[in-house]
Amino acid sequence: SDEQLRGIQESLKKAGVKYCVGSYVDLHGTPKGKFVPLSHFEHFAHGSELYTGYALDGVGQAPNDDEIASVPDLGMIIPLPWNPEVAWIPADNTLHGKPYEVSARVALQKVLAQAKEMGFGMNLGIEAEVFVLKQDEDGRLQIPNTDDNLTKSCYDVKRFMDRYQWLDKMATAIDDLGWELYSLDHEDANSQFEFDFNYADALTMCDRFTFFRMMAKHYAAEEDLVATFMPKPFADKTGSGAHFNMSLFDLETGENLFKRPHAEDPRGLGITELGYQFMAGILKHGPALCATFAPTVNSYKRLVRRGLMAYYSWAPVFNSYGRNNRTNSLRVPMSGGRVESRNADAACNPYLAATLALAAGLEGIREKLDPGEPQEVNLYELSPEQMKERGISQLPTTLDEAVQAFANDPFTKATLGETLYSEFVSYKSEEWRLYHQSVSQWEIDKYARLY
Ligand code: GLU
Ligand code: MG
Ligand code: MG
Repeated sequence: SDEQLRGIQESLKKAGVKYCVGSYVDLHGTPKGKFVPLSHFEHFAHGSELYTGYALDGVGQAPNDDEIASVPDLGMIIPLPWNPEVAWIPADNTLHGKPYEVSARVALQKVLAQAKEMGFGMNLGIEAEVFVLKQDEDGRLQIPNTDDNLTKSCYDVKRFMDRYQWLDKMATAIDDLGWELYSLDHEDANSQFEFDFNYADALTMCDRFTFFRMMAKHYAAEEDLVATFMPKPFADKTGSGAHFNMSLFDLETGENLFKRPHAEDPRGLGITELGYQFMAGILKHGPALCATFAPTVNSYKRLVRRGLMAYYSWAPVFNSYGRNNRTNSLRVPMSGGRVESRNADAACNPYLAATLALAAGLEGIREKLDPGEPQEVNLYELSPEQMKERGISQLPTTLDEAVQAFANDPFTKATLGETLYSEFVSYKSEEWRLYHQSVSQWEIDKYARLY
């Protein structure tokens, strides 16, 4: 009601807020929005802000189309920790007053409503990995300690302390936001870090992850550094994942519907039949989902056994599942009760990826699919014949393959709607074409004198 709106406006004013941004994401998951002075809060709350969709990537509009609006979700207000005069509020796009289906946040809510009809809510935890780099005089991004050729820098305390100012700003902010940060560490690659905060309902987690990436970049810039969520900045180091940890809960009791004691699970993973069905749905659409979990040309340089590294990548190559085995794309951690999609990378649009993952999981449940036996061995070591014997297929190896899988699986169009589906396919096909048709330095070095 208007009275409630005035109440919110009043409390924002008391908190020192001057501007509100109703922020939605484009195809890439990048936050967009206009800044509205707090004096216009009521209009703003009703969706006063209009946007020409053609100015955004993948929003499905031509320059002559009517404008879309953004309606802020007032349950999710976040004053910027580094500038509390600005309140960031996730928003949904509308067109002519109706939810605009090309908005990824709207698409997620559509599938969450389907889950709700089945009595389910979805919990999601996204484990965010990120590189913090410095820019040299030529604008190139480099690992800050250039003299540091330590391989296996995972959990390294000294390298963690080298970036302490940035890490502490991040950790303090995350904690103050109430996201329940429980651990942070130096990841496997030099100057790569991971923040683990508690899971939340899927929509909230997607909002948080979107905000997290923006915040990481801000605090890095304060330290004269660049935070990047590019999946694979260095060919000889591990990439940045954003593992999706998923479970369904009972909307009435809040109970985790994937969890059961290991001893009661015939396959011993500590997952219920519902959880297995959910995984089977994800595996069924695995190649198509990969396009949104790993949405860039660069993503597929992360999804390799070793790449140019001396040791394994920790990133998945196969469309398979297993217990605590990090060589599967789907892993059930030792504690059981949840499913981790490991092909998701740090550049994904979380709303899009969560939409498709949930829809695929629900299909698995509706159709009572079975994922087969879990894979327990180091899959990186198996020959193609052994893979075949086990009935395991590869994930897409390039963006091209992934986009084709996405385009050819009727499930994606049925879930996302015609426009969001075709926007994704056309944007990503063109991204692939531009990459593939460019001539790289590698090719010049390899061929110019050889031939
Ligand atoms: N950085 C790895 C990746 O690319 C994941 C490491 C881990 O298991 O946390 O997915
Ligand atoms: Mg990690
Ligand atoms: Mg993980």
